[in-house]
Amino acid sequence: KSKIRVHTPIVEMDGDEMTRVMWHMVKEKLLLPYLDIPVAYYDLHVSHRDKTDDQVTVDASKAIMKYGVGVKCATITPNEDRVREYGLKKAWKSPNATIRALLDGTVFRKPIPVRNIRPAVSSWKKPIIIGRHAYGDVYNNIEIRVDGPGMAELVFTPLMGEPIRQTIHFFKNPGILQGIHNTDESIVSFARSCFAFALDQKIDLWFSTKDTISKIYDGRFREVFAQEYETSWREAFQNAGIEYFFTLIDDAVARIMKSEGGILWALKNYDGDVMSDMIASANGSLAMMTSVLVSPSGYFEYEAAHGTVQKHYYKHLKGEETSSNSTALIFAWSGGLRKRGELDATPDVVFFADQLEAATLETIESGIMTGDLLLVADPNPDNRKVNTESFIEAIALNLDRKLI
Ligand code: NAD
Repeated sequence: KSKIRVHTPIVEMDGDEMTRVMWHMVKEKLLLPYLDIPVAYYDLHVSHRDKTDDQVTVDASKAIMKYGVGVKCATITPNEDRVREYGLKKAWKSPNATIRALLDGTVFRKPIPVRNIRPAVSSWKKPIIIGRHAYGDVYNNIEIRVDGPGMAELVFTPLMGEPIRQTIHFFKNPGILQGIHNTDESIVSFARSCFAFALDQKIDLWFSTKDTISKIYDGRFREVFAQEYETSWREAFQNAGIEYFFTLIDDAVARIMKSEGGILWALKNYDGDVMSDMIASANGSLAMMTSVLVSPSGYFEYEAAHGTVQKHYYKHLKGEETSSNSTALIFAWSGGLRKRGELDATPDVVFFADQLEAATLETIESGIMTGDLLLVADPNPDNRKVNTESFIEAIALNLDRKLI
């Protein structure tokens, strides 16, 4: 059979450990047999990042700006253990933080529902989508470990005028310090992309921060969202029958637990990081969630929201059988391909992406599952735990049937 041709190159960012193993299986068994696909390949394996002094991550981000759509495998964010394990020059920054700092924007994370796995929270009837601000805060921080007594100050030196100086703390003993920032420009684009996404999907938008405690920092986020809503979105929201709702983050967490779902929950960078794992896990597994970075300049980066599944990788290296779930990696590819097809106006590529997702869901719904899913699926005598490779092969069989 002839292959479907993808016109514009997709930026492919390879990764680490078990997700790298699965990434190659997905390409070999689910993509390359069906697609004639040009890729701009960047190897973000931690050793290659080290070898290039992390230039490869910057180059990959620039390639996304050139071509518009990127697909990323999970990668190690090195800590001291990883520096030793891989003999790295230093603990390089998180590649995701580097990419997000360059592209800016918002990460939208949406659970992947299947019929035979019910959310752990019984009131959730519709997906809760997280809109995570992808720039700044603790992900672009500066930290100091204070060894002894001294004064910590926050200083802003304007290009013109007098510095602004505030005392943070007088240390009598050792301690820790952190400086974080955000920009009005990034917060505005975060707000806009959330309003636009909620309107597009016709769902309510919630935004929550801790502005009672962080009156200036979190307060600015709240202010920007309110201004954006009043000036540009109120009327369209009313016409669409949807709402914008701000509440304190602790109140939002309490309400989410009792809500029906079907909302976009906009969150600052760290809050979104934490809450998206909670939502994914309550929907069965970290691998049952899609994640896309939408930049204000119109670039899209699709990824799995989970990590490199380190423990499975060590088993894999010892030659033991693993049962790792490739669903989020497959959906990273299908999301990227669908967007590429939309931008290139190639409906056959969009059709392929739809079939790939349908084949994956049908496989799980037929009871063929990886270990993480078997633990949470509705009990059924047809349920069968398969290994990493067999799961992908079962999807390939379903996909074959659909594409004949
Ligand atoms: P992890 O997401 O790899 O694993 C957390 C837990 O979820 C583990 O119990 C794991 O077995 C399970 N899990 C996650 N994905 C799974 C899958 N596809 N199938 C089956 N089970 C799955 O996170 P971690 O263990 O905290 O981190 C491992 C490495 O991943 C670290 O080096 C970290 O820096 C990196 N990381 C990368 C990203 C990313 O690139 N997006 C995100 C988080 C962590």
